[in-house]
Amino acid sequence: MFGGGDEQQEILETTRRFAREVVVPVAAELDRQVDPEDCFSWDIVEKADAAGIRTATLSGEYGGAGIDSLTTAMVIEELAKADLGVSVIFAQTLKIAQTLQGAATPEQRERFIPDYAADSRGLLAIGITEPDRSSDYIIPFAEGDYRTRAVRAEGGWVINGQKHFISNGNRARLYLLFAQTEQGKGLVEGSTCFLVERTAPGFSIGRVHDKMGERLVNNAELFFEDCFVPDENVLGEVGQGFQVLARFFPASNAYAAASVLGVAEAAYERSFQWAETRVQGGRPLIEHAPVRQTLARIRMLNDASQAYVYRSAWLADHRDQGWDGTVGALPKVFAAEAAWEVVTETLELHGGYGYMRELGIEKLVRDAAAFLHSDGANKALLLKAARFLRPS
Ligand SMILES: Cc1cc2nc3c(=O)[nH]c(=O)nc-3n(C[C@H](O)[C@H](O)[C@H](O)COP(=O)(O)OP(=O)(O)OC[C@H]3O[C@@H](n4cnc5c(N)ncnc54)[C@H](O)[C@@H]3O)c2cc1C
Repeated sequence: MFGGGDEQQEILETTRRFAREVVVPVAAELDRQVDPEDCFSWDIVEKADAAGIRTATLSGEYGGAGIDSLTTAMVIEELAKADLGVSVIFAQTLKIAQTLQGAATPEQRERFIPDYAADSRGLLAIGITEPDRSSDYIIPFAEGDYRTRAVRAEGGWVINGQKHFISNGNRARLYLLFAQTEQGKGLVEGSTCFLVERTAPGFSIGRVHDKMGERLVNNAELFFEDCFVPDENVLGEVGQGFQVLARFFPASNAYAAASVLGVAEAAYERSFQWAETRVQGGRPLIEHAPVRQTLARIRMLNDASQAYVYRSAWLADHRDQGWDGTVGALPKVFAAEAAWEVVTETLELHGGYGYMRELGIEKLVRDAAAFLHSDGANKALLLKAARFLRPS
């Protein structure tokens, strides 16, 4: 695993070039497509693969760069400056690849990782959220259980149920799926994580959600009707699904925060350029003190978000250096709230021009809204973090 130094700079420079040359030229047009499926581009995925971004968290033995969690957060941030949806496509894939390497048995690693690594369209997804179970697994609400049930059968499990809102849901080749395996227990003690292949019998994809923003990533429903999954596809221990999340997903919150931070940084760039060129009151906006105050405030919010994100991502790999549960819950809340303020200030600064689609400011507002709830509703995450303030 590497982090820092020349290798980090190299992958960040590659990501910036990819974002500039591949994503920026097509993002606005893809965002405007009426059918949400048409907002997604395989060309972007294939070019990210060619640039080494898609597999960057895989270790060298699987052809990846083995980047650490801090570098991964920085890559996600760079992608999000160009487009939020694209950053989410890869945030999901990069973090699930990390989890696979950490939680899978040697046999599972050999069975799943090389095929995924070799597929230039190989994407990954995680299915936790259900129509009736969402903040309950974030907080968590101990009595809550997943409605998606897995029941023992010969040689494996039969799964029935539904997930929704799943990023990459209709595009992934492999899914981490959480299902209730012990009835009468809550999801913390009674759920199990399964590796489900796209081709699993009884697994199907439902509708693709039509979202207000973050449109370049598809989100979809997943259906399981007597879907058979063999014992060898249990990730971690039976009944310990929640522990897979807790142990192997420490940087997940930082990655979500890095995505929305990238949107806020793009908004800062746009605000600064606009303030330097738009003239009112006989001089550029930036020469009016209240505008300069706004720019300074945006810069402060972004810098504070970035510091929190980087600290959290670094601590995810160095948990003996001061990690506690709050660091796995709060950076996204801060970054999402800060980004929401930044994009609304940016909209305000652009006046009527900001509201017109041609400048792309309204896209930043629609995109930033995604992270008020994505990766956990902010208020639910505050409740989760509060549990770590006074350990019981
Ligand atoms: C763009 C996007 C992408 C997503 N991608 C994925 C994905 O890839 N995989 C996946 O599994 N999920 C995904 N999700 C789901 C996401 O994690 C959930 O939307 C989120 O957890 C909130 O759940 P909910 O929308 O059902 O809201 P609810 O849980 O219904 O919450 C609604 C409101 O009630 C509040 N609330 C809930 N419970 C309590 C309580 N006990 N006390 C006080 N207030 C409470 C919440 O804070 C919120 O304000 C995605 C969501 C979005 C929007």
